[in-house]
Amino acid sequence: MRYEKALVWLRNDLRWEDNLTLKKATELARSILPVYCLDPRQFGPGDFGLKKTGPYRARFLSETIQDLQNQIREKGGNLLLLHGKPEEEIPTLAQKAGAGMICFSQEVTAEEIRVEQALEKAAWSKGIATESYWQSTLFHIDDLPFPVAQLPEVFTKFRKECEKLSFIRPLEKIPETVRFAQIPEGHLNSWPEMGGPDFTDEGTENKADMLFRGGSGPALERMNHYFWQTDSLASYKETRNGLMGADYSSKFSPWLAMGALSPRQVYREVKRYETERTKNQSTYWLIFELIWRDFFRFMAKKHGSRIFQIGGIQDKAGYWKEGKVAFSKWAAGKTGIPFIDANMRELNQTGFMSNRGRQLVASFLVNDLEIDWRWGAAYFEQQLIDYDPCSNWGNWMYIAGVGNDPRQDRYFNILLQAKKYDPQGTYIERWIPELDKLKGFDRHIPFQLPSEKLDTGRIRLGKDYPLPLVSAENWSV
Ligand SMILES: Cc1cc2nc3c(=O)[nH]c(=O)nc-3n(C[C@H](O)[C@H](O)[C@H](O)COP(=O)(O)OP(=O)(O)OC[C@H]3O[C@@H](n4cnc5c(N)ncnc54)[C@H](O)[C@@H]3O)c2cc1C
Repeated sequence: MRYEKALVWLRNDLRWEDNLTLKKATELARSILPVYCLDPRQFGPGDFGLKKTGPYRARFLSETIQDLQNQIREKGGNLLLLHGKPEEEIPTLAQKAGAGMICFSQEVTAEEIRVEQALEKAAWSKGIATESYWQSTLFHIDDLPFPVAQLPEVFTKFRKECEKLSFIRPLEKIPETVRFAQIPEGHLNSWPEMGGPDFTDEGTENKADMLFRGGSGPALERMNHYFWQTDSLASYKETRNGLMGADYSSKFSPWLAMGALSPRQVYREVKRYETERTKNQSTYWLIFELIWRDFFRFMAKKHGSRIFQIGGIQDKAGYWKEGKVAFSKWAAGKTGIPFIDANMRELNQTGFMSNRGRQLVASFLVNDLEIDWRWGAAYFEQQLIDYDPCSNWGNWMYIAGVGNDPRQDRYFNILLQAKKYDPQGTYIERWIPELDKLKGFDRHIPFQLPSEKLDTGRIRLGKDYPLPLVSAENWSV
């Protein structure tokens, strides 16, 4: 053992199982001190006048921390909670606790890297060593068949080369018995004590098909439900473009984003399912989607803060407007285009939106309203329960045509999409009660209906439901 004590700074790797940072700490030190530090900057104002973290994700994070704390307590230790800037609090605590080293997981985006670098500098000035590890992706960064600087810009090439030339590491095993360091006096014990924002005041009335509970316990329960109890995995490829219900897709994203579940855990469970139940295109397709997640993370590593800039990784001049009024209507789900409004209302009332919905509302904002795509990305950052900087900004760039898409223009015909994915208007009925007296597909096109139909549906356009923000001329069906 090189050290008497190691402080483990947990970040977006909030799990005990398959946690390389925890494992390395147990190998390097006689005892470990796991710590989570709530950074108030993550709850302050973000870009474009929006919050960085809204109430759904705040609640999910508080549950995740509680779940991990319970697990560590069962093993005889504790998860020590701090409030403040990690680059100040963590080295100070390490010194107070007599820890000779600090271990943590590497992140890839600019703000997180700034914190890491400042923390390392502060630790070294106190004579404390630091070690950081890569563990957020399916393929390990050191096992990629190319250096990150030469990462292919096109997903298909990235995926095929990884599948052919790389491999997925086994799960990390943490020893059965771990020695925990004594916790220094005066530590914090709960979410409110650590300055966590109150999430009960707004927007947490949850109307979702599925309640997301934070923590690796609920994550494994969800995986068990989706794979073994319902066999939903076996038809994932056919159902993944769905809009309603708990099981059209895996819904693993919030747990993956906070690291309560690792992509390798999902991969190993898919492999077990393939051996014990069935192997088909759907079981492969879930892994395919996890490779998309990897792709955006490695892209962020390659391109740094360009993923947050208006010209994206292509540094492309744009035609974006600053339409504040149109943007707030889009955000509130009041554009007068039912398919867009229903998706935005689902997001606002639950913190979640399907992948299909995300593509449509993003395309509508950037292509139809021509609004700066970064406003949309920042709004998603505030609202999403599964917000992940790489997947979010990467997907937004992609749709805005400034990211990695050989097809360039990702334009979606909203009415054609409605015909394909919600032909009976049931999704609209669910989220837009103003339109529920209309029948079937008419719910998608109140702006094209004759006045008799509107009268029967008791809708006065412009009063009961907004007039459309854009004309539907481009959307022939
Ligand atoms: C504009 C836009 C913004 C997005 N923002 C986020 C975000 O902040 N966080 C986030 O996790 N995903 C984001 N996505 C990707 C995708 O919509 C979600 O991962 C997915 O809807 C989550 O549901 P699921 O877990 O049921 O996915 P499933 O369909 O079951 O897929 C399994 C997993 O694969 C990964 N995945 C699937 N699709 C994608 C994708 N297009 N890009 C990256 N990873 C993917 C996710 O980790 C997901 O949990 C965004 C997509 C768009 C179009």
